[in-house]
Amino acid sequence: MTAAFSLPPEAAEPHLTVAGRTLDRLRTVPALAPRYADHPGSVRTLDELAALPPLVKDDLNTALAHLDPRSESGATWLFQSGGSTGAPKVGYAPTGFYMAGVHAHWQPLDREDVFVNAWGAGRMWGAHFLAAGLADLSGCRIIALGSVTREEYPDWLAFLADRRVTAIGGTPSVLRLWFAHARAAGIKLPTLRKVLWLGEAWQPQLEEDMAAVAPDARRWGMFGSTETWVVGTNTPDCPADTFHPLPAQLVHAGPDGLLDFTTLDPEMLNPVLRYRTGDAGELTACPCGRPGRAMRVLGRRDSVVQVRGLGLHVDELVARVEREPGVSRAQVVITENGGRATGVDVLLLTDPGAAVDAEGLRAELLSATFTLSTAFQHDPENFRVRPVDELVSNDRTGKTATFAVREGS
Ligand SMILES: [Zn+2]
Repeated sequence: MTAAFSLPPEAAEPHLTVAGRTLDRLRTVPALAPRYADHPGSVRTLDELAALPPLVKDDLNTALAHLDPRSESGATWLFQSGGSTGAPKVGYAPTGFYMAGVHAHWQPLDREDVFVNAWGAGRMWGAHFLAAGLADLSGCRIIALGSVTREEYPDWLAFLADRRVTAIGGTPSVLRLWFAHARAAGIKLPTLRKVLWLGEAWQPQLEEDMAAVAPDARRWGMFGSTETWVVGTNTPDCPADTFHPLPAQLVHAGPDGLLDFTTLDPEMLNPVLRYRTGDAGELTACPCGRPGRAMRVLGRRDSVVQVRGLGLHVDELVARVEREPGVSRAQVVITENGGRATGVDVLLLTDPGAAVDAEGLRAELLSATFTLSTAFQHDPENFRVRPVDELVSNDRTGKTATFAVREGS
């Protein structure tokens, strides 16, 4: 059973006292205490840890409301996560956002870099601030740009080219906008070598625009959440879905294929003990050759959404549509009225000048997707495929989820 952890017992077990203290904290939460009643009071081995029940997002919200964490040595920051595919959750972090521990193991930036922090700032989202913390530790020059509006891209890109920027960071959805706008405007960023990303899965389509705009740029990824903070990182030598967990973050891959996270950092404010983000994954050896177990993230299990009582695999549907020539990106939008799906739209962003046969694609998806053909058997006109100018994004984080739900009729 211990083979399913990212660290071997001899590396993890000396630090499990932190997990034991987290367990003590969770036991003081009235709504959560009963589930730990049958478990021993401490956590000494990985087997004991694996026997504890996992926490899901709502559990952590319940725990944080009761525990009201405070940093002992500095400020306590409150952040919010979610909103793209679920209700917002609160998470806490101390001064520095644990980035000293990240920087000790992962240094994409150095003193010579000119780094553009393009994660949106404010509205209680953490990514901009943790990236700033990392950049601060690296000693580089920092341009705190945040998010910009559609009309502003060309002017800012000209400024960034003029400043000879070497690094940029953002969510892959936002990075795609930067590179697509640069390509459309004919702006090159020849000095750009590093593209940092966090907040969503990497989007392979980015690489085509990157190659045109900044041929020397390579991706550097972080994986984490507002509850766990940064769990793992990767380099250009790693596959984009594979991350090396930090030693203070213990990753467990369950027999059901879901990942859970336990922090071994004594400064951790969120009670992260077998916490499930909803991501499926496995532990693996990374082809980059770095020793130790890496985690491969296989996407979110909650990408299966209910449409009229049937499970629709949104990621599979989007992946199929994005293989269609001329389609650069797709998104599924479900319209609900009183909790019932009245319609499903597949929105398409198409390449400039591409002619996509939306109606032919619609007919193929409808016949090839059991959930769609069954759910819309009597009203197939309520399943639509249509090109749009922009997809539905979260204004706060700039994330563009593979699916969105809207109220309507
Ligand atoms: Zn690797």
